[in-house]
Amino acid sequence: MSTSEIWVGGLGWPYDELLAASLRARGLPASTLGPMDRDAFDRGVAALPRGQCAPALFTTGALLRRATDGSAPGRYLRLHSCGPCRYALFGLGYERALSVAGRSSVGLLDVEQSPEGLLALAESESGGPLLDALLVGDALAERLRRLRPHVRDVDALEARAEGVSRALAQALEQGRDAREALVAQTQWPDDLPRLPARVLPMVQLIGEPFSLHVDGPAQLNLPRVLAAANAEVTLPPLALWIAYQFWIARQPAFGQSRKPATQRVGELRRLEDALRTRFGEIMRAGEVGDYELPDVDHLADLASPHLPSGWRAGYGHVELGLALRALELGRAQLVLSIKSFGCLPSSSVVDAILPAALDGRLPFLALEVTGDGEAARESRLALRLGSARRMAEAASLAPSGDAATTGRAPRAG
Ligand code: SF4
Repeated sequence: MSTSEIWVGGLGWPYDELLAASLRARGLPASTLGPMDRDAFDRGVAALPRGQCAPALFTTGALLRRATDGSAPGRYLRLHSCGPCRYALFGLGYERALSVAGRSSVGLLDVEQSPEGLLALAESESGGPLLDALLVGDALAERLRRLRPHVRDVDALEARAEGVSRALAQALEQGRDAREALVAQTQWPDDLPRLPARVLPMVQLIGEPFSLHVDGPAQLNLPRVLAAANAEVTLPPLALWIAYQFWIARQPAFGQSRKPATQRVGELRRLEDALRTRFGEIMRAGEVGDYELPDVDHLADLASPHLPSGWRAGYGHVELGLALRALELGRAQLVLSIKSFGCLPSSSVVDAILPAALDGRLPFLALEVTGDGEAARESRLALRLGSARRMAEAASLAPSGDAATTGRAPRAG
């Protein structure tokens, strides 16, 4: 077995760091690929042919930078796409870019984003701890997101969160239980001064998994930008992507009508239940309260009049379902889609289907990750946020008192 280092990248902060720590705890040398920043994007653009989606550009650039930084060749733990996507060709792009850069010695370690891959992982000894690392990331990222609009000093808050992420990674590497590690850190933001309570609009973010979870320019820095513009943000946990994989596996195979065997459906449901239970335990340990994993069956039911359940379009049923659920619950004043540049599934769902599904009942805006156009982004956002704010005030949405003090606001996922 190869002993070269495993590079973890493409899930974003704090997931990559926590996953690498969890791998080290299993005796595997591992580190992160580095930030998915503007430099990574530019390197990816220079290395790949035109027309690649944003996740391919960011990850290829970050991989090239890591492969040429002077350290020993490693193995990139690569996903085949940013999520449940049948269109992306990440692997070919990586191989070509590494070869052109004279770094073919860097290996690619495949993570099978399929139900079979997940089932095999769930049944393996490492499955539980690796999943816990991702759920710990969900808890920390969610608490940070809730607190941003309510603290006076966002830089100080983010610096604290970075420190907590490192402490959690250290605890996981030492083999400590994920819940215990979170409980030891619960007070991390408590002494940071808060802003006075006020009515804030809620923005429901939707998008492909990469756009939703990889913080920084890949996410158009939107959670930070929105907090600075006095808006709260809700977006789904990374765990929802795993639940969506299980849901897909319970459906008839693409293009067929025969359902999977009852026993297999039962197995998948048991795994989903276990994921939901563990998610709840870890969120409570991380003081994120009753942050529930959205129910994929419900999201798919909401989406299915517009996107039949047998069709596959990236994260389509989840994107549509989350937007329609926000409408159903009446708890968001704006649906904002972050679209990866060059993403075929997101374009078909967001450009063609979602506006018709919302039918003007909830303001909607789509912003594309292109690596430029910040000014245009902010002016379009400012216009939409103005109307979202007026809607929130008209509805007299009470500011979330708990969130304003601890980030422990009870709300659905
Ligand atoms: S879903 Fe879109 S952004 Fe993600 S890998 Fe596929 S084409 Fe790229």
